[in-house]
Amino acid sequence: MEAARLDADVAVVGAGFAGLAAARELAAGGLEPLLLDARDRVGGRVFDRPIGDGAVMELGAGFVGPGQDRMLALTEAVGVETFQTHTGGRNLLESGGRYIRYRGTIPRLRPLALLDAGQTMFRLDRLARRVEREEPWRTRRAEELDGQTFSDWIERHVRTKQVRGLLAVPCKTLWGAEPDELSFLYTGAYVRAAGGLNRLLDTPGGAQESRFVGGPHLVARRVAAELGDRVRLESAVVRIEQAEHTARVRTPRRDLIVRRVIVAVPPPLAAQIEFEPPPPPPRAELCRLMRMGALMKCFAVYPEPFWREDGLTGEALSDRGPATITFDTSPPSGSPGVLLGFVGGGEARALSARPEAERGAAVIEGFARLFGERARRPDEWVIQDWPSEPWSGGGPVAYMPPGTMARVGPALRKPHGLVHWAGTETATRWTGYMDGAVRSGERAAAEVLATAGSVSG
Ligand SMILES: Cc1cc2nc3c(=O)[nH]c(=O)nc-3n(C[C@H](O)[C@H](O)[C@H](O)COP(=O)(O)OP(=O)(O)OC[C@H]3O[C@@H](n4cnc5c(N)ncnc54)[C@H](O)[C@@H]3O)c2cc1C
Repeated sequence: MEAARLDADVAVVGAGFAGLAAARELAAGGLEPLLLDARDRVGGRVFDRPIGDGAVMELGAGFVGPGQDRMLALTEAVGVETFQTHTGGRNLLESGGRYIRYRGTIPRLRPLALLDAGQTMFRLDRLARRVEREEPWRTRRAEELDGQTFSDWIERHVRTKQVRGLLAVPCKTLWGAEPDELSFLYTGAYVRAAGGLNRLLDTPGGAQESRFVGGPHLVARRVAAELGDRVRLESAVVRIEQAEHTARVRTPRRDLIVRRVIVAVPPPLAAQIEFEPPPPPPRAELCRLMRMGALMKCFAVYPEPFWREDGLTGEALSDRGPATITFDTSPPSGSPGVLLGFVGGGEARALSARPEAERGAAVIEGFARLFGERARRPDEWVIQDWPSEPWSGGGPVAYMPPGTMARVGPALRKPHGLVHWAGTETATRWTGYMDGAVRSGERAAAEVLATAGSVSG
């Protein structure tokens, strides 16, 4: 294949934040990228729905927090502002049919359970600090840790039934999975990548601290606007063929000839692309083993955030569901009032098995248990079911079951000839988050730019 026939220097597959950041870096570095996405929009697992006056429901990712520096830098670069998540008042815990109001991250439990919760968090954090962040498979006793599930560890180390049950609640939202589906080494690596459990779980000081004025999809749209006609939508990549110095990227519309490819899609979706030559067995196995989490986001819109009058933040944990975590996601003006409920893991699978007409009623019933009768009368409700989106397959992240990280983890980022891998799943900081996606795109672009002599020559 001759240089004269080149369509671009680099094809970037997937226009989520990983692909957008990669294409932006490549262009800044003097290469010509083409960014291809299967959908008719950019953003991937980030998508917003307008609710008037510039406000949105964040149907995919919504929150950003301290330490997520690359996402915050990109946000600032395209002129989007952030604002703090509403936290005035008390949070709510529904546990075993009891309702407890509390401030901060850990609810006011009975003394034994409170001690147990504190010790559990301390132990998990200590273990996560021992995980090798860049290469978790090199952690001491990696195979042993990877052979067990998060649930095995909980059974062994958590003493009270209440804390065991409560640990499953954030798990369903953080990974869209149950504790018995997650490798314990992977769990530790994920906590390490975020800089500790508090960073993952907290609202002030943690990953839920802030939101985007106009929504995170505005950031994606602005980056895409900068890239202009380098972005090609409705271009699902079905096959990537490598020759010695060039690659042919096939989409149903046309074939592109490029010098390098960055694949910025989650590993289970990368498995749907045909590669010639095929990736080495560890990479193929990694894509086969990793699973997309099951996560739905459910919104109810009210004339105002009435729970604030009752002294509640709108943030709740529930062991009954279907929404097991809720937040107040009203716009900065506080009008209208928007309640968000996350339905994840087993609850998401159960809810999607119910007839569509029953799903909203089940979620609203849960909101009414937590926030009272006024929650029964939303002006509008919306359920965003990520597992049913063919070009995402679930969310928030593709996680690793036991026996994956220690064996085939090294294949996550190892290039396959002219093909480089990006996507939040490949990030070593803030894996699973928009920030991890941006970092992974920037890292993959740097890999390609480091070969620039051979790419542009
Ligand atoms: C419900 C939910 C809530 C979340 N909440 C948060 C949050 O509050 N904060 C946070 O930081 N993160 C959150 N996340 C996670 C965050 O959305 C992701 O980590 C991030 O958006 C992933 O970006 P990515 O570019 O790696 O992948 P994606 O966004 O999945 O992008 C991949 C792109 O590839 C495209 N694609 C797939 N296959 C092909 C193909 N064969 N050819 C061409 N294109 C293809 C897809 O259409 C998609 O656009 C949430 C996710 C979900 C689902």
